[in-house]
Amino acid sequence: MTIDTAEQMRISMRADCSQCFGLCCTALYIAASADFAMDKIAGQPCTHLQPDYRCGIHATLRETGFKGCTVFDCLGAGQQVSQVTFQGMGWRENPEHGELMFQVFPIMLQVYEIKAFVAEALTYPVSHSLREKLSIEFEKLEGLTRLDAERLLKLDLHSCRVPIKALLTETSISIRQQLAKATKLKLQARHYAGVDWMGKKLAGNDLSCANLRGAFLIAADLRGANLRGADCIGADLRDANISGADLSTAMFLTQMQLNAATGDMHTKLPAHLQRPSHWK
Ligand code: SF4
Repeated sequence: MTIDTAEQMRISMRADCSQCFGLCCTALYIAASADFAMDKIAGQPCTHLQPDYRCGIHATLRETGFKGCTVFDCLGAGQQVSQVTFQGMGWRENPEHGELMFQVFPIMLQVYEIKAFVAEALTYPVSHSLREKLSIEFEKLEGLTRLDAERLLKLDLHSCRVPIKALLTETSISIRQQLAKATKLKLQARHYAGVDWMGKKLAGNDLSCANLRGAFLIAADLRGANLRGADCIGADLRDANISGADLSTAMFLTQMQLNAATGDMHTKLPAHLQRPSHWK
């Protein structure tokens, strides 16, 4: 797969709620918290879900205690289950499919999350052999998204993840090494995987090319920080302030991470991600 094709693929991985039967509002278990104002069991439609599968409080989600709904991003898994796996048969009109559809959605969601990371990895100038391996895994994931419901339920996602995790790590190291070399940085000194920087003041810090995998950055002050080339896979950016920060070439950053953070019109973002509408 070429870099251009991979870029188009990554950009196209966006939720289209008009093609989905409200699966995130129904299939998932959600515990009451500051992000969601009530408990909701898996398979039970949210009380705000309308008969037409639209949200009845869409315009006021944040003000009414449902901030988490503005953060969630299925990457297109919802419309895939609705329109491909179940061929446009909604669970309200075809209740006999409901339970199966709700079980399949979380699995498809995970396949899409992995697929988005592999698509992003394919947008980088990696070696020919690494590109070949990533392309093979991408094709396999594409195939999984087209499986029928029964087969999706039997998927061993752990076995899918193991080889991909190694390839994404290899991609991260390769690209960050290239960037670090160009800017004369020492990559070894930038290993912060899993670090606990909750609420830490990091405004203006240079974290370019850093390994921030799984870092706890909840409510961290990252205003104006340089996060170019930083690997952000799994980093917890809830309520982190990234106003004015440069994430334009941050690696494996997701729309959900951005939605959960606070930024502004000066925050620089990768081209495949969108500026959240609730930012100033
Ligand atoms: S509040 Fe709206 S978006 Fe959130 S789960 Fe309920 S129906 Fe869905």
